[in-house]
Amino acid sequence: MAARILVSDDLSEAGIEILRRGGLEVDVKPGLPAEELRSIIGGYDGLAVRSATKVDAKLLAAASKLQVVGRAGVGIDNVDLPAATKKGVVVMNTPGGSSVTVAEQTFAMMLAMLRHIPAATASVKRGQWEKKRFQGREAAGKTLGVIGIGNIGALVVQRAKAFGMRAIAYDPFISPEAAAKLGTTLVPLDELFAVSDVISLHVPLTAQTHHLVNEKTLARMKRGSYLVNAARGGVVDEVALARSLESGHLAGAALDVFEEEPPRPDHPLFALDNFVCAPHLGASTREAQEIVAVQLAEQLVAFFQEGVIQNAANVPAVSKELLSRLGPWLSLASRLGALVGQLSSGSASKITIEFSGEISDKGTKPLTGEVLKGMLPFFTQDPVNVVNAPGLAKERGLSITEMKIAESPDYASTIGVKLEGDQGAVEAVGAVLGKHDLRIVQIDEFKLDAVPEGNLLLIRNEDVPRIVGQVGMILGDAGVNIGRIHLSRSAQSGQALSMINIDSPASPQTLETLRQVPHVLGVTPIRL
Ligand code: NAD
Repeated sequence: MAARILVSDDLSEAGIEILRRGGLEVDVKPGLPAEELRSIIGGYDGLAVRSATKVDAKLLAAASKLQVVGRAGVGIDNVDLPAATKKGVVVMNTPGGSSVTVAEQTFAMMLAMLRHIPAATASVKRGQWEKKRFQGREAAGKTLGVIGIGNIGALVVQRAKAFGMRAIAYDPFISPEAAAKLGTTLVPLDELFAVSDVISLHVPLTAQTHHLVNEKTLARMKRGSYLVNAARGGVVDEVALARSLESGHLAGAALDVFEEEPPRPDHPLFALDNFVCAPHLGASTREAQEIVAVQLAEQLVAFFQEGVIQNAANVPAVSKELLSRLGPWLSLASRLGALVGQLSSGSASKITIEFSGEISDKGTKPLTGEVLKGMLPFFTQDPVNVVNAPGLAKERGLSITEMKIAESPDYASTIGVKLEGDQGAVEAVGAVLGKHDLRIVQIDEFKLDAVPEGNLLLIRNEDVPRIVGQVGMILGDAGVNIGRIHLSRSAQSGQALSMINIDSPASPQTLETLRQVPHVLGVTPIRL
């Protein structure tokens, strides 16, 4: 059955067309009241939004089938990311799609502010001709301080050069070499505030950037300088900004975004002539909306039709290429997780995942996610998938260690999973033979060559004759057909292990009868 997608905000028609052509069933219902949205969300596998729909914990609680929320655009402030992650819902956005448009808005607002365009327009329309009053400032020759040189900040730097401005930047996550390549010089934040004629913000809203522009930093800015914010409301303390503009310390400010949107009509900035604003129009051009809608639609189709995860905020990316490279290893990883989950007893406190050989070179994060996804259902009632598995593991106090070893002695690559807890440790190692034959090659100290599939019995016994015969008889009498049997022995412990693939699960009585066989030390049913 085709996955069902609800488009709950205005999304460009080109995007909706791609969703439909990609074999998804699409309902377009923009602007639904929150209650109505909650009442229908249970029927959808995917939700496509822009910034209007509030994907909060209440909506997510009602979204029983939802696998993915796609945001056409960059900011995902309208999505409760922790709640989505806990529920196992992938949250993806479309970074970069609207960057040019936002960089252009930054310049539109900067020039409008330097040349008083909004106030001059209103004045002319009122029948006045106030040439003196609206004398402006030239951009050329000025220092532009760019805070945050990611996708948009880099494009702003590029455009500043075309205007003959000198661009300096602050971004603690960018190297001086990368900044130089973009055509700017990194400076400490203090210096940027002190020397810039115009400051433009291009950072996400985080605990570190909240009120980055405040009374103190505004006071550090040059008298007569300007501020532009086309990033996120909340990065600027708007009350402090209004005071600075009022006092004439700052010559002008332009905000595309506000801490509270829409702002209250009596907002202190609205009374000021040297303040220019827009209702969060940064990404709002026909071109950008089409680009992000198309990008999101392509990502959603890839997600539902090929399992490819792109631009997700809460799960490691699995590109088509990585997916095809990892393919059977993902399945092996989740089966190893399920195997150790069923073999361990008591509580688990530590999991160590060891990637050996060629596989250690590949992106192993998705494999770790699969191990946890396979293992956790044996420890929690919560539904588990790769999105919420790391969070659930953390919540349960499980420490996760990943190890990568370039050499693998017996196979081209192996994944080993060791689970430790209050009842000791269990360990399983798996490999992929040829292109896609999954094998369990070791359990604890026992070397094997077992197929991890369907119903299995793991029998541990003292290494004496007649055990296999008796086990075969008991299973045969119970009508349980044996598909494969793999035997292994350990000289060190004097014990043997058999891993038996059976066509149907053994009943509790049959398991009990097996446990009663002399010299049998343990019988564990496994379902993979
Ligand atoms: P990005 O992730 O590509 O770039 C953000 C940059 O900020 C990164 O280089 C990061 O290293 C830097 N950064 C993070 N924390 C920082 C800090 N404490 N100090 C300095 N730098 C820091 O994002 P982007 O696509 O360039 O978007 C930038 C901003 O623009 C975001 O806030 C985004 O939400 C906003 N945006 C606004 C609109 C709009 O309509 N006005 C549209 C799209 C994006």
